[in-house]
Amino acid sequence: MTNLKQNLNLKKYNSYRVEAFAKHFIEINNEKDLEELKNISDFKSLRKMVLGDGSNTLFVNDYDGLIIKNDLKGKEIVKETDEYILVKINSGENWHEFVTWAVESNYAGVENMALIPGSIGAAPAQNIAAYGQNQSDIFVELTAFNLETFEYEVFNSDKCDFKYRSSVFKNEFRDKYFITDVTYKLSKYTKELETSYHERKRRYGSLQDALEAVGKEPFGIDDIYNAVIYMRKRRLPDPDKVGTVGSFFINPIVSKEKFEELSKMVSELQHYPFDKLMYTEKEWDVIKDDYVKVPAARFIDERGWKDRWINNVASSPSHGLCIISNWRASGQDILDYANLVKKDIFDTYGIELESEVNIIQ
Ligand SMILES: Cc1cc2nc3c(=O)[nH]c(=O)nc-3n(C[C@H](O)[C@H](O)[C@H](O)COP(=O)(O)OP(=O)(O)OC[C@H]3O[C@@H](n4cnc5c(N)ncnc54)[C@H](O)[C@@H]3O)c2cc1C
Repeated sequence: MTNLKQNLNLKKYNSYRVEAFAKHFIEINNEKDLEELKNISDFKSLRKMVLGDGSNTLFVNDYDGLIIKNDLKGKEIVKETDEYILVKINSGENWHEFVTWAVESNYAGVENMALIPGSIGAAPAQNIAAYGQNQSDIFVELTAFNLETFEYEVFNSDKCDFKYRSSVFKNEFRDKYFITDVTYKLSKYTKELETSYHERKRRYGSLQDALEAVGKEPFGIDDIYNAVIYMRKRRLPDPDKVGTVGSFFINPIVSKEKFEELSKMVSELQHYPFDKLMYTEKEWDVIKDDYVKVPAARFIDERGWKDRWINNVASSPSHGLCIISNWRASGQDILDYANLVKKDIFDTYGIELESEVNIIQ
């Protein structure tokens, strides 16, 4: 196959910019490229991974298999009523460009998720969310190419089994499917702006504060979009300046009893509600009344990890949950640092931090 490459350096294909070599690498530009994958010798037995923009992926070693890089472009409005549109977007499109297009066209539902790096295909796989909005709220369906049967399948929301930053594509179907397009439903009218997001007092403030700082009343989705960008630029590391995957860890869920115990150790510890949609009925029954979500960044800050550099890796000075690198760290350096943080938080608070990033070893 003409576009199949061997021993390709993945440095420009991951946001940590770590050097890792893929034994085989192929770029998918159209359906024909997908169908032709079967011509690759030993395709079935090869280890494989679908890669979007690599902004939530940490390559720890060289990759001894086939990286299938997504570059499927295009989008189309497939249905339009007086109230909403259904837009089908090919999975290699950029998420933030999609959000910008929606806001400029005055379609509501994604404006709080501005500036999240990455591709459309990864959005349902990762079940991305930010500032009170979640991609699963507007999700209609997706099409995925089965890399074992070479057939296309349609997944509705139930079949995707969306959880907190997760879905079937991160669990039982990991690397079995290549998501080719995603359909979202966007509203033509702004029902209510989502402005409930707020940070710990005296820190970065609330989305409402940002809205007042950069918006103009009466606020619209464009003001939310600008306020979110304003907040993210102040708070999150810039992938054009440092290596980052955003939050390295997931915010843990602890029992209320544990929360009381932690509150004695950490002053003004906040807790957040968690979304029912993200859990199975069984899980929800167990956690709904007795558990709360706590901000992992707070424990990392308290333990002094922010801006503490080891082997070209640190916790971001502006957001402890983000483990950053100066682009000279290896994947192993980054993982070692994350493990040090994890161990310290466990030893101090008895909390087991779980990684959000996809660690590829
Ligand atoms: C600075 C920064 C800020 C961030 N902020 C947020 C945030 O606010 N909210 C949030 O939710 N995330 C955030 N993230 C994480 C990241 O942006 C998302 O996880 C994003 O969806 C990753 O997209 P990607 O294309 O780069 O994924 P990749 O890293 O390429 O892939 C991620 C996973 O998805 C799978 N995948 C990708 N494409 C496909 C496909 N077509 N078919 C099947 N599987 C696929 C991959 O196999 C992999 O397991 C942030 C990251 C950074 C660097």
